[in-house]
Amino acid sequence: MGNIVAIVGRPNVGKSTLFNRLTQTRHAIVSDEAGTTRDRQYGKSEWTGCEFSVIDTGGWVVNSDDIFEEEIRKQVTLATEEADVVLFLVDVRNGVTDLDEAVANILRRTKKPVILVANKADTNEWIYSAAEFYALGLGDPYCISAATGSGTGELLDQIVSKF
Ligand code: GDP
Ligand code: MG
Repeated sequence: MGNIVAIVGRPNVGKSTLFNRLTQTRHAIVSDEAGTTRDRQYGKSEWTGCEFSVIDTGGWVVNSDDIFEEEIRKQVTLATEEADVVLFLVDVRNGVTDLDEAVANILRRTKKPVILVANKADTNEWIYSAAEFYALGLGDPYCISAATGSGTGELLDQIVSKF
């Protein structure tokens, strides 16, 4: 199946927005799959001649305020098994949350490359505040705005360097 990038993170950090941005350049066919992958979206992307698949793990905690760490563990584990590169998305506007820490605890144990991505850094003020995510133990975050596309070129350079 080739290179696979999975986008993980708690609800509303912008996973689907980033998925759409990464896949829209190729007008990818996005399809829902049956069974355990029912809520996962798969798309195609390409950067500097390197093609890859993108998985949006969006469906796994549908707009619920009551999310169990066990469910997160299952879904993040599934995504990391399937992926060659994991994008761990956090939201600069919320800072580090308990759920971010729960996801980070799982991702720190995987041997797969994990790229920490601080989304919604639409302005410089938000880019400065993203430094706090270093505390998650996954390095410095890549600051992006999935909404405007700013920072996504550097992120894509980093992604394809991992294949
Ligand atoms: P998901 O639940 O992680 O898939 O998050 P969504 O992609 O559905 O986005 C959740 C909300 O965050 C939506 O209202 C988006 O418009 C908003 N959002 C996503 N990316 C950005 C961004 O880069 N900047 C800002 N300001 N809002 C964003
Ligand atoms: Mg989503």
